[in-house]
Amino acid sequence: MKLGEVSTKYPVLADVVQRIKDVDSVDELYPPQAKAIETGFLDGKNLVLSIPTASGKTLVAELALMSEALKGKKAIYLTPLRALASEKFEEMKEKYRKLAKIAISTGEYDSSGKELADYDIMILTNEKMDSLMRHKPEWLEKIGVVVIDEVHLLNDKGRGPTLEIVTTKLKKLGVQFIALSATIENSDEIAKWLDAELVESEFRPVQLARGVFLDNSVAFKEKDDLKLDAPPGACPLAVLTTDIIQKKAQSLIFVNTRRSAEKEAEENGKEISALFDTEAKKKLEEIADQIENVLDSPTKQCKRLGKCVRTGTAFHHAGLHAKQRSLVENNFKQNVLKLICATPTLAAGVNLPSKRVVIRDYKRYGNFGMEPIPILEIHQMFGRAGRPKYDTEGEAILVSKSVEEFDQLWDHYIDGRPEPISSKLGVEPILRMHTLGLIAEQERDKKQLFDFFGKTFYALQYEDMASLEIMIDNILDQLFKWGFMDHENNRLKCTKLGLRVAQLYLDPMTAFDFLQMLERNPSDEMVILTILSDSAEMRPLGSVRRSEEALIFEEFEKYDLGDEQLRAFKNAFIFFEWMQEKTDDFIFDTFGMPPGSFRTKLSVADWLLYACGEISRLSGRDKMLDKLRMLRKRLKYGVKRELLPLIRVRNIGRARA
Ligand code: ADP
Repeated sequence: MKLGEVSTKYPVLADVVQRIKDVDSVDELYPPQAKAIETGFLDGKNLVLSIPTASGKTLVAELALMSEALKGKKAIYLTPLRALASEKFEEMKEKYRKLAKIAISTGEYDSSGKELADYDIMILTNEKMDSLMRHKPEWLEKIGVVVIDEVHLLNDKGRGPTLEIVTTKLKKLGVQFIALSATIENSDEIAKWLDAELVESEFRPVQLARGVFLDNSVAFKEKDDLKLDAPPGACPLAVLTTDIIQKKAQSLIFVNTRRSAEKEAEENGKEISALFDTEAKKKLEEIADQIENVLDSPTKQCKRLGKCVRTGTAFHHAGLHAKQRSLVENNFKQNVLKLICATPTLAAGVNLPSKRVVIRDYKRYGNFGMEPIPILEIHQMFGRAGRPKYDTEGEAILVSKSVEEFDQLWDHYIDGRPEPISSKLGVEPILRMHTLGLIAEQERDKKQLFDFFGKTFYALQYEDMASLEIMIDNILDQLFKWGFMDHENNRLKCTKLGLRVAQLYLDPMTAFDFLQMLERNPSDEMVILTILSDSAEMRPLGSVRRSEEALIFEEFEKYDLGDEQLRAFKNAFIFFEWMQEKTDDFIFDTFGMPPGSFRTKLSVADWLLYACGEISRLSGRDKMLDKLRMLRKRLKYGVKRELLPLIRVRNIGRARA
């Protein structure tokens, strides 16, 4: 089917089709795209599109969004990550700026959403959508279509439940769904849940060859084996990296820890740096300089990254500063950097394909020690192999160290099918937050509340709702006891405070801990910081390492805290040291907390302090307001009290002050 036929059948899309032709040079639709059109999603039917990465889901999503926008409806695009939202926003703005008003909104959960009323297309994270729905902006009624990107993340313990609740709420609004999914075993169940047509396919525009590496050669399933010559003493994977660079292409290597990512990048760099000519080296020097100058004063991590970049490699993990991350990503996309060694966060993040993908570690730390990574996730990493428009083929390679391991990997990951996904809704802290959210949005009796949960994916999969209902019953008791909810003639309704907690998008338990703190009015900053750090919002927390024990224990003993609060205490102690004007390097060296992760924690703390101030005002427990305000500023700037006035003078950073 030609793309042009779409505008013949749907004249409203003529300009959109033209833009896709111009910008993406698409003429003939890929088979799953054509099939999707035939299901009638442009006539308003729900659709689940379950196809491999880079097989053209975006085009389907864009047609659906633009079609509704041009009919005067609101169109929503939901993504699981902020980085993905920004990427999508930039792409869509570039393409459709003249045809529709496009907005992105991902942070700041305490906004009413009124500011979005004028836009046709909104690109939001799932959490942002959820928080907006709690504020009930008028435009909710005008939503025509919702595109759900990566709907298979229903399976994710962290992000799945919010996606599930948001989707169930949207179902009640009667919107059209376009759900995009990786290839999973039970996409038919998702289609059933969403009352959608299912288009499922293994089609790939760029062929994928999958294989397993052992003793300097790779056995591929889809093509001939690759035999390589390894120089003696080289690091084992450098032979793969050298080979791919000699073929004028690039590689990603996935490992399971930040430390391995850095080490692997460094060691591969040593082997490949000789492969660059003078001009390429000059370019790499420039990027390295940029990377080293991202922070006020470069940390060891910055310097280490800079050093790797000079040799044509980089590491990529959650500990990187956002600016460094995008420098690495952009220079990889432009084929300047030849290798990225990454933790699996990259596989779930932005669109960063590479001719070759090497998976060094197929195990990672879980609740029970080292556990194999699920097939679904390994296949997501495979899916990064092969750049659309540049490569005719991608290679995905698992690394084995013995014949037994080779066989195991082959059977499990190459020949095996991905696990079916399952609802993760039955997790108490998340249920608690969403139960309050639901009552905040609308008064209801218990039966109506249970009916709502009866429409979730959980209900479809497990049918037996008894255990979930018991959990919700307990939660209702808690919410009542904590003063966030009231009963009136069987109706469940939020108190004023409960409503505010829901709008602030806090775990009710965090809010309750804050209330108790506000009552006690502790004077010690470490106590306040530990309460902030002990919240669900601040998790996951780093463990206390052997090298820190002496330091942390000595402080910890001074407080009346339970052992289970040790990690939170450590986190609080890092904040404290930051406000004592310690450097990023000190924080990294002493506590193993890289700058990027630390910035994330700081922004959570900032949000929690704001929320705590709001609760303080509303509950009339306002003795701590000044203290909270001061703490918020000092955390933001990382300074002692005396330096605050100086920092207020514009453009004076922490180091200069
Ligand atoms: P994903 O399924 O991962 O969202 P994308 O939609 O980003 O994949 O598509 C990958 C690439 O393929 C993009 O560069 C896109 O422009 C291109 N593409 C999509 N559909 C077609 C098509 N029918 N013909 C040619 N290129 C296409």
